[in-house]
Amino acid sequence: MQLYADIVLPLAQPVYTFAVPGGTDVAAGQAVAVQFGARKFYTGIVWRVHDRRPDFKTVKPIQRVLYDAPLLSAQQMALWEWIASYYMCSLGEVMRVALPALMKPSGDTEEEFSGDEFRPRTECYVSLAAELRDEGRFHEVCEKIERRAPKQYEALLELAAAGDETRIATGEVARRLLRADYAVLHALERKKYIVCTQRERSVERGGSAFRLPELTAHQLTALNALREQFAAGKTTALLQGVTGSGKTEIYIHLIAEVLSRGGDVLLLVPEIALTAQLIERMERIFGSRVTPYHSKLTNRRRTETYLRLNRSDGGEFVVGVRSSVFLPLKHLQLIVVDEEHDASYKQTEPAPRYNARDCAVVMARLTGGRTLLGSATPSLETWLNAASGKYGRAELTERYGDARPPEILVSDTLRAARRGERKAHFNKLLLDRIGETLDRGGQVMLFQNRRGFSPYVACSECGWTARCPHCNVTLTYHKGGRKLVCHYCGHTEDVPAKCPSCKVTDVLPMGFGTEKVEEEISRIFPEARVARLDRDSVTSEKAFSAIIADFEARRTDILVGTQMITKGFDFAGVSLVGILNADNLLNNPDFRAAERAFQLMMQVAGRAGRRDDGGEVVIQTSEPGHPVIRQVAAGDFEGMARAQLAERKAFFYPPYARLTSLTLRHRDPSVLRNGVMDLAARLRTRFGRRLLGPMTPPVDRIRGEYLVGLLLKIESGASSARARELLAAELKTFAGNPAFKSITVVVNVDPQ
Ligand code: ADP
Ligand code: ZN
Ligand code: ZN
Repeated sequence: MQLYADIVLPLAQPVYTFAVPGGTDVAAGQAVAVQFGARKFYTGIVWRVHDRRPDFKTVKPIQRVLYDAPLLSAQQMALWEWIASYYMCSLGEVMRVALPALMKPSGDTEEEFSGDEFRPRTECYVSLAAELRDEGRFHEVCEKIERRAPKQYEALLELAAAGDETRIATGEVARRLLRADYAVLHALERKKYIVCTQRERSVERGGSAFRLPELTAHQLTALNALREQFAAGKTTALLQGVTGSGKTEIYIHLIAEVLSRGGDVLLLVPEIALTAQLIERMERIFGSRVTPYHSKLTNRRRTETYLRLNRSDGGEFVVGVRSSVFLPLKHLQLIVVDEEHDASYKQTEPAPRYNARDCAVVMARLTGGRTLLGSATPSLETWLNAASGKYGRAELTERYGDARPPEILVSDTLRAARRGERKAHFNKLLLDRIGETLDRGGQVMLFQNRRGFSPYVACSECGWTARCPHCNVTLTYHKGGRKLVCHYCGHTEDVPAKCPSCKVTDVLPMGFGTEKVEEEISRIFPEARVARLDRDSVTSEKAFSAIIADFEARRTDILVGTQMITKGFDFAGVSLVGILNADNLLNNPDFRAAERAFQLMMQVAGRAGRRDDGGEVVIQTSEPGHPVIRQVAAGDFEGMARAQLAERKAFFYPPYARLTSLTLRHRDPSVLRNGVMDLAARLRTRFGRRLLGPMTPPVDRIRGEYLVGLLLKIESGASSARARELLAAELKTFAGNPAFKSITVVVNVDPQ
């Protein structure tokens, strides 16, 4: 009987059917090489094998089956399917992020397509020939070559000295031998005194006697609560603990338990920025058990990691960024999502626009494992799930040891300005505190959520502002390169000498970014050593590590930065944190603005006084009475959560509704307008008032394309799957309309 296979190709289209050549064995999850269309060659994943011939004329055969074993387990396939359906994308788009690049080569010609199995790098292992294991014979040979070939003689001795049972020289010895001289080894091999074999780099995994931190009574209570809730069948739990309370220590205990019984653990971290410190900390306890997985690894390393895990028989511990939810951990028992509220778990571009935290919860359910979500400031979605009893929950309300929570001071910017107590962008209060801190030899972090020198330049005479020619935004002034830069498309231009509009005056930088803060603070405190951490100063991982290392070693006194400085860093010397402008956090036109502002400020504040006797935080704002500022000052997460949830409920926003945003893009604004009117009308007949828009996004032109948005609010729960089906059907009809075919529609489920 002729068999067929539905195969996922790394494309936005659905699966394709190929013929399975007679005598070939293929199973679901296996990788295959196929020719697609007249000239395209791809690596694909077999999704299903069946005997129904598709109704197109020629069904192409699978060219080759790759790798012995499937690359995906049944659970991984189920996760891909969940993602494709929930986030409304193709399995091929999931494949693009899920598999490392070297496992899915493609090409336009047969030659270009290196559709072969990826071969892990091998290492040379050297051992004494069996004959020489006899002591007498060994000495005989040694005597023979000692004079004539002293280097060979030394190498032989080295090998013999390495001597474990099998006399295989691995690792250090092999490296030393090889460095010594290749020719020497070749000579020895030719004489058959030694045997060289090429083998895959092996990962030596230590035992399971981990040296675990001793927990405090509070931590132990939290740990036991989580254990009990997991044992009682909760698949997901929230560990809410203030910064520095020891959440990580609790993770460590849970992780050790799983590893000791041979299960796999995945620890998700929001960003590469954080991974280095955390990986180091985990390696101090779990040694070589730790497998890092992030974008800074080479393609080769990531591919090797995938294939190694795919063959592993358990006891694996991966620390990685969001794409590690796709790794083949076949004995997965625990996923820990650190800083679960972090927006970077969500991939916004390109599809699949998935949230790794939510995928982790689904994956744990599929594998029968557990998910622990950790945060000082959980997302309202998670917090509500915990409060309602759907998730388990444990809390840590105190910092570890003597560390007291930081004191939070709110400084009124307008009042300071009125009284003349403001210099550059600093209120006197903050400057005084910086001065005192520096005098004491303490370190300072200054947070400003805008990079560059100033967000825009303007003419003071006529009000002209410099704008991007391709996007509808102002250009940001970067003083370092004396350039105007578009933060959306990267467009760069020189600062005009005179206002191009009225040609009267100079244009002036307005507002302020990190670069300006750095310059001002250096001027005010000329002795202080100041550094800056933002996307402009971090041009490479090396630059990043250097800035962090300098600050850690106290070679810098003041670190100015964006969001980048807020994430989980543990610097012992920081006793003062300044938030320069809380207003632009509060006044974001986004329903999550208050939640995000709270999270961000608490996160920044958490950097202060991690060891010291209590740190200080100064928040500069022109709205000292703003409810969120008060909640931050009081450290009142629950107050913020309840207030925000009440609003969300009243206006029907997440977590009470699920949002799906649709963004339509086109070069021609009239085509776009007709398209969005048509789509909005269709969706309105289906969804009525649950459809909002069309609306103009804050930036309505990017890279020369116009943008318009629609927003769908759907009840959470069972009906949301049906709503997605309806939406998918309407989008298909829309895409099939020749008048609108050239319009790009981006669907984003659960946008951040
Ligand atoms: P969190 O993850 O909640 O921010 P951490 O686990 O990083 O907190 O703990 C903060 C600091 O306190 C770390 O330096 C950590 O090593 C230390 N610490 C926390 N709990 C303990 C403990 N039980 N024993 C020793 N050190 C601890
Ligand atoms: Zn631009
Ligand atoms: Zn002008």
